[in-house]
Amino acid sequence: QTAPGVAPVDVNAELFDRARRAIPGGVNSPVRAFGSVGGTPRFLVEARGATVTDVEGREYVDLVAGWGPAILGHADPRVIEAVQDAASRGLSFGASTPVETELAELIEERVSPVERLRLVSTGTEATMSAIRLARGFTGRDVVVKFAGHYHGHSDGLLAEAGSGLATFALPASAGVPADVTALTMVLPYNDLDAVRDAFAAHGDRIAAVITEAAAANMGVVPPEPGFNAALIELAHQHGALVISDEVLTGFRVSAGGWWGLENATEGPSVFANPGDQYLPDLMTFGKVIGGGMPVAALGGRADVMDLLAPSGPVYQAGTLSGNPVAVAAGLATLRAADDDVYARLDEAASVISSEVSRHLAAEGVAHAVQRAGNLFSFAFGEEVAGGVRDYAGVQRQEAWRYAPFFHAMLDAGVSLPPSVFEAWFVTAAHDDAVIERIVSALPAAAKAAAAA
Ligand code: PMP
Repeated sequence: QTAPGVAPVDVNAELFDRARRAIPGGVNSPVRAFGSVGGTPRFLVEARGATVTDVEGREYVDLVAGWGPAILGHADPRVIEAVQDAASRGLSFGASTPVETELAELIEERVSPVERLRLVSTGTEATMSAIRLARGFTGRDVVVKFAGHYHGHSDGLLAEAGSGLATFALPASAGVPADVTALTMVLPYNDLDAVRDAFAAHGDRIAAVITEAAAANMGVVPPEPGFNAALIELAHQHGALVISDEVLTGFRVSAGGWWGLENATEGPSVFANPGDQYLPDLMTFGKVIGGGMPVAALGGRADVMDLLAPSGPVYQAGTLSGNPVAVAAGLATLRAADDDVYARLDEAASVISSEVSRHLAAEGVAHAVQRAGNLFSFAFGEEVAGGVRDYAGVQRQEAWRYAPFFHAMLDAGVSLPPSVFEAWFVTAAHDDAVIERIVSALPAAAKAAAAA
């Protein structure tokens, strides 16, 4: 309660000031700082179902979902109970547990390219280890990645394209040695000719191509039909492996992740021969498989995975890997994610994305709805209204329209990702009533985007 004449205290702003004195930039991961939208990040104290609550007690409909894990909705009772039960028996053993094998078996059942699985704690570790493994298997050094794809913050993957195609990359962060990124090639996404050229020029040096199964870290940019399958074919012709990074898409866009969607037996096939499947050699997972706790994984072909220590010479380890409390959250989440959950995620994504699009159109804001399964984002501007297929396309948008849109939504109690270059995430708790709260905020937000 504020006394008359006394300005109300902005608790979030005070906490952010204090955080900035104790923590670099006030945050433990950069996008949380609202750098690209401006304003004060909200300090959250609770997340339940489809909503989050800040320290001032204000509730927001959440379209971040912890950056992906919360497919069931936040604090799902089944997950919380599994975590409490595991925690009551000890937090960390540093020894084998039965549940680690259960999680590996469950993932191997749902995603058949995965014959063996190693648990780690973050997506960064998963992709970093997958690359070491691909190098160990092939005896080669070079890794190909695509511009705009994010695979975590290990040195070799913090690389950006140098000038010209089929050349080696430059560091994308201070502190990354150029000698390290010189082993990374960065190519334009959805461009098989660029991949062909890279293999033609350097094929005998390329250990692996790493690709987001569907790109969702530059906004959402789906692979064109057949792209992933053709990439695998090209790589294999040259003796290179393919690492399909499903940290973000895995077990979110379907029960088999993006791989499951693309290899579904129903609907149009991406293959010349019906019945074919594409088989990435290695895959990486995170987010959903930890249900909000730190669990990630790399998995794939048995002959490659068995090169990991202790069965093979490629070293990889972790004190907290396969942590029993974290694995309990992941298992409970995956077990609860049935067909109804995925149907709800798809429905919520369809309704929300088309309502946003309708309101933007009503205010004359040219845009594209970028969609990959139940992941979506929006690209603003006439130039991109036909949709974008790569990082250069994404950058041609009128990105400045997003900040006012974002803040109008936030003021109305809807929390969006604080950057136009991030996917929006729904949960199974996004029911019709929740969606109505989002829709009612859209007219003002669309006006704000139009006025920008
Ligand atoms: N790969 C992809 C596709 C991701 O989206 C992310 C994180 N957003 C990572 C890797 C890195 O995961 P983490 O933040 O857990 O290190």
